[in-house]
Amino acid sequence: MIRFIDNFKSKLEGIDFETLEQSKYTIYGLSEDLELIYVNPGWVNFAKENGVSDSYMNDKLIGSSIINAIDGEKIKNFYAENYINVLKTKKPWKHEYECSSIQEYRQFHQNTYPLKNGKGLIVTNTLTVNLPMNSQNRKAYDALNKRYVANSGYVTQCSNCRCTQRANEIDVWDWVPKWVENIPKNFSHSICPICFDYYWKK
Ligand SMILES: [Zn+2]
Repeated sequence: MIRFIDNFKSKLEGIDFETLEQSKYTIYGLSEDLELIYVNPGWVNFAKENGVSDSYMNDKLIGSSIINAIDGEKIKNFYAENYINVLKTKKPWKHEYECSSIQEYRQFHQNTYPLKNGKGLIVTNTLTVNLPMNSQNRKAYDALNKRYVANSGYVTQCSNCRCTQRANEIDVWDWVPKWVENIPKNFSHSICPICFDYYWKK
């Protein structure tokens, strides 16, 4: 697969290409228009281990918009605003987020660095917390359509903690392992109130 645009190395100022290539962290590069211009081998490995399909990792990946690839309006806006702010201010930005699987509770730290010539961003993702999910006291709920499918026909999942919103008690979000493993076709992404307050609110 193509991992970077032709002139990527010439855009890199302040960071060594080999450092990105050899890093175990999951790293991507963005253009000034927030298009993906680089992914490192660590990113490819992480994507494969986490079930990202081969069809997504095709030759159209590089050049595609990172913002379009993010589900959920609130989260799209959150990343778009902050990335643009880094480009504008040329000050690095960091934040934490959760990306768990059914077996593992995982927390990540993300750093966004502006290239010194203003031609884009380098984004690194580091695993900071990795614990067995059964240590988390997160009660597992069954995937009951009656409880979770809203009148619109959609199931809403928090794209941070991946809990599912109840259809009739919209303030309650449950851990439904079946839908973490296999995201249902009729799902939409949002962000639950606790994740929004804790991780995202400025
Ligand atoms: Zn959440």
